[in-house]
Parts: sequence; structure tokens; C-alpha cells
Amino acid sequence: SLTYNQEFKDPELSKALVARIREKSARPLRIMEVCGTHTMAIFRYGIRSVLPDTITLLSGPGCPVCVTAQKDIDAYVMLARRPDVILTTFGDLMKVPGSGSSLAAEKAKGADVRMVYSIFDALSVAKENPDKEIVFCAVGFETTIPTIAGGILTAKAQGINNFSVYSANKLTPPALAALMETDGVEIDGFILPGHVSVITGPDAFAPSFEKYRIPAVVTGFEPVDILKALLMLVEQNASQAPRLVNAYPRAVADAGNPKARAIMDQVFEKADALWRGIGNIPDSGMVLRDLFHEVDAARKFDISIPDTPEPAGCDCGQILMGLKRPDQCRLYKKACTPIHPVGPCMVSSEGACAAFYKYSR
Ligand code: SF4
Repeated sequence: SLTYNQEFKDPELSKALVARIREKSARPLRIMEVCGTHTMAIFRYGIRSVLPDTITLLSGPGCPVCVTAQKDIDAYVMLARRPDVILTTFGDLMKVPGSGSSLAAEKAKGADVRMVYSIFDALSVAKENPDKEIVFCAVGFETTIPTIAGGILTAKAQGINNFSVYSANKLTPPALAALMETDGVEIDGFILPGHVSVITGPDAFAPSFEKYRIPAVVTGFEPVDILKALLMLVEQNASQAPRLVNAYPRAVADAGNPKARAIMDQVFEKADALWRGIGNIPDSGMVLRDLFHEVDAARKFDISIPDTPEPAGCDCGQILMGLKRPDQCRLYKKACTPIHPVGPCMVSSEGACAAFYKYSR
């Protein structure tokens, strides 16, 4: 008998699902996976190679590092250069180039930039270094923001005054809505992010589903999860009966996690945000509320940096909107490789270009 998780890795079940997808898909379909973890899982399990030619998989704007605006990277670089600051960050952000430098380059030049796994590690650094200012680079979606909010509440409760956060946090549903409004974007189905939906619930995607009527399935990260979602999307397209489905009920409740959302909303409020390569998206960012101004690094260090254009030739924005594939970027594998990334989609382990590079050789 199969254990719970093995069931979702079962090769026989996967084969049967692939056969049904092949049988049911008639017309060409463009299906976007929104989450970077799905992008990686799809490559890792070789799902692209077993699908019929009629299905094109696109990677959406679901990698937080990839959509962090250059101006935010520049702000992190500026903070790292301050001798009084210890900058704490998730590892993925280190190599992302801003307009002139990266955190890795600053670290190599002597800046105190430390990799952490959570905001709580950053709080420990703050306690151990009372004569320094510790800044945490907050780059995340709904999956990560509640924990960041929890860390900020802890800092406040414990009176840790040498700690602040620069928020480049972002929300997923407004990005999908913005995508649908973009000229040239054609999507026949969404594989909605499983981890984000644990917090938001599928309901967060209902407004844009109602508006655009594009089939959408929330699913998990095992091969059976992904293939099942693909089959549902193919079937909904065939029957022209679009639905918003929660196919990941073992992790995602319809209401999401209201407690986590409450903590997030206690500390942060919505604001317009700049998405790298995509542009401004209304109400898609999460900035610190006034009540928490003393932990807001942007205010504490008076940072206001203009955005700069993307590196010439980098098509990250178009890739994140499903308008291009990574191998259609003229810098791909030439000027841009994981060792020398030009754009963020090649840096992050969940970036579409990095995934393409790693698996399509
Ligand atoms: Fe940007 Fe490099 Fe991807 Fe081209 S291959 S879109 S330059 S990250």
C-alpha cells in the first residue's frame, strides 16, 4: 500500500494521467505555472518532455527574487555600503544585479552582508551586535510575509531598537490580474501557486477568475499533483467550462489561513509596487504601516531611489509575463549564464532562465 506522499509520486498514476492529457488535448494551449517552485518541479520531474506538443508551459511572475525591482536592489546595496549596517538577506538575493552592483559584490569588497534563513536569524544578529544597525531585506510573497510580520512584532515586543526591515514584499493575485490586462498576453490556464494559496486560499484568485474566466487550478508540487492540474485545465478548455478549482485540499483550505493573514495585515498595508521588468502594479506591494515606522528601514535611513532601466537585452519581464521563453532571449547561454547572470531570472534557483539552463542541456 502507498503512503500518503508516495501516492502523489506514483509512476503508474502519472503515466495514466499523461495518457489522458494526450488523449484530451486537441487545440494548442498555453498554460502558465505561477510559482517558481512549480517551475522547478516541472523541470525536475521531466513533465515538459512527456506532454503533447499542443501544450506550451509558461513560467509566470512567481519567483520573488526575480520580480524585485532594480531600485530595491540598489537600496539594499546602498544600505550594505553603510559602515554602521549589517545587512541580512536570503541567499538568492545576493547575486541579483542592481543598476551598478550586487550584494555579493559589496560583500566581496568588505561590506557586512549575512545570509539568513529567516527574519528570526536576523533578530539574533541584532541582539548579538547592539552597536550596529541590522537591516533585513524582506523579499517575499504571501508565503513568507506572515513570518516577516511575526519577526517585526517580536522585535517591537522585545524592544530591539537596532533592527529594521526594508520591504520589497509583493502579493500574487494583483500580479495575475495585471498580467491579463497586458497586450499580447494569451493564457489558456493557470496552475495557481500551492504555497501562496495555503495563506490566501483559492478565494483570493476569485475576482480575476470571475473577470477573465480563465481555467485555474490550485495544486501541489508532486508529479501527480501537477499532471492532475494539467488534465483539469485541458478538460476545462475542451468543454469550455472554466472553473477555479482547489486540487490541493490536503494543504489548502478554502479560506486559506486567516490567522496568518491577520498578522500580515497588522504589520503591513497594501501599496503600489514596482515589479522588475513588468512595471508598476497597483496595490501589489506590502509596506510597513505607520505604527511600525521605527522598524521601516526606508524611513529610518531616508532611502528614496529612482528606478533604472533593465540591463540591455534582458527579456526577464517578457518571460515573467509568458510572452517569451528563456531560450528566446538573445543573451541566454551567451552573455547570461548562472555564473554570470545578467538578469534576475538567471540568478534565483527558482528563476525561469536558471531552470531552463539547468535542465535543457
Ligand atoms: Fe535576462 Fe539572462 Fe534570462 Fe535573458 S537569459 S532574460 S538576460 S536573465
